[in-house]
Amino acid sequence: WAAVGAGGGGASGAPTPSSSDNIRVYVRVRPPSSREEANGAQPCLDVLGGQTVVLSDASRPDPFTATFDRVFGPEAGQEELFAAVGAQMVENCMAGFNSSIFVYGQTGAGKTHTITGDVARGEDGALAEQCGLTLRVFRQLFDRITDEERDGVRYTVKCSYCEVYNEELSDLLAAPGTRAAGGLAIREGDAHRGVCVEGLTEHVAVNADDVMALVQRGSANRHTAATRMNERSSRSHSVFTAVVEAAEAQPDSGVTQVRFAKLNLIDLAGSERVGKSGATGEQLTEAKSINKSLTTLGRVVTALTERQQHVPYRDSRLTFLLKESLGGNSKTSLVACVSPCEDSAQESHSTLAVVNQDTVGDLRALQLENARLQRELAKKEGTVTAELRAALS
Ligand code: ADP
Ligand code: MG
Repeated sequence: WAAVGAGGGGASGAPTPSSSDNIRVYVRVRPPSSREEANGAQPCLDVLGGQTVVLSDASRPDPFTATFDRVFGPEAGQEELFAAVGAQMVENCMAGFNSSIFVYGQTGAGKTHTITGDVARGEDGALAEQCGLTLRVFRQLFDRITDEERDGVRYTVKCSYCEVYNEELSDLLAAPGTRAAGGLAIREGDAHRGVCVEGLTEHVAVNADDVMALVQRGSANRHTAATRMNERSSRSHSVFTAVVEAAEAQPDSGVTQVRFAKLNLIDLAGSERVGKSGATGEQLTEAKSINKSLTTLGRVVTALTERQQHVPYRDSRLTFLLKESLGGNSKTSLVACVSPCEDSAQESHSTLAVVNQDTVGDLRALQLENARLQRELAKKEGTVTAELRAALS
C-alpha cells in the first residue's frame, strides 16, 4: 500500500525515492538468527544500492525485485536506523506535525527490535547499542526541547501506551485492576482535541528516562495480560503516543499561543497469515482482527495517497485511533521488517509485496475480480431460484 513509498521509476527507469514527503516506506532485513545459522538456512534477500531488495528463492522462476525509500541490510545498526528514520520524526514533531512510525512484518522479523529493542541503560546512563527507535527518538526530542526552552517556549510531553487486540483497545499504563472490560471507547472529539480515547491514562514525561520507565511498564503489562504469554504480543498492535504541547508567549501581545503535535510509535501485529490452515476459535478471531486492521491501514494509506474522497478510518480501531496522525500534514514512516532466510521467503515476499506500490494495482484487480464473482454468484442464485420456482409450480 505504499504507492508513494516505492517510486515506481521515472522516465529514465531509475528508482526514485518517495514522491511524497508525507509517507516513507523502508525495509529492514535482519541478520540470520543463531538458530537459522545453526540450521544452515540459506539467505534469499539481497540489497542493491540501498533502495532495492531482491528476493530469490527456489520456489520462483524469476527473482522478485522491489524499490523503497531505503532498504537497510543486516549490517545496519540501531543508530543508523534512528539517523535515517527517527531523527526526522523528531524534527517534524518540533515543527508541529503529527508523525508516526509503524513497524510491519511477520512475527520474528525484527519489529519489536526496531521500535523498542533493548531499553536497558549502562551504568553511565548510556543507551544500549541495541536500543531501538523509541528511546533514541525521545532522547533527541528532549534535547531539542531543552534547546527551545532556553528561548522561552514551555513544553509538556504527555504519554500514553495502548494495545489493540481483537479490535478492542486497552490501556497498557492503567493501574492494575482498572482495565475496562470490553475495551476503551474511541470518540471523535472537537476540532481542537481530535480523536480521543475515553479513560486512557496520560503520563507526563520530563525526560527520556521517564519515557523508558513507561515503555517498560506498558510492555510488561502487554505480557502479563496474556493468556498465551509470549504469543499475545505478536497478535496485537501496540501504540505508544506522546502529545507534545508547546506554549509560547507572543512578544507583542503577551498572549500565549499553544501548539500540539502527536508522535506515535506503532508495533503492529505479526502479518503472517494465521488463518490459512483452518484456524478456529480464538486463533481465527485473532487472525480476522489482524487482517481487518492491516487491510484497513493499507486502504487508508491508499485512499490518502490517491486523494480519494472517502478515507475508511472508521473501519478498524487502529486506523480510527490514529486518524489525525495519518493524512493531512502528518508524516508517516513505515518500516517493513523481513527475515533474510529462505524458509521465510513466502512471508517476506508477502511483506514486500504488500508495502510495494505494485500491490495497490494487484489489490484493485483482486477487488474487481471479487466484485465480478459476486455478481455472477448473484445471477446464478437468481437463476436457481427461478428454476426452483418453475419446478415447484
Ligand atoms: P518481531 O517483533 O517482529 O516478532 P523481534 O523484534 O522480536 O521480532 O525479533 C526476533 C529476534 O531477532 C529477537 O531476538 C531480536 O533481538 C532479533 N533481531 C531482530 N532484528 C534484529 C537485528 N536487526 N539485529 C539483531 N537482532 C535482531
Ligand atoms: Mg514483536
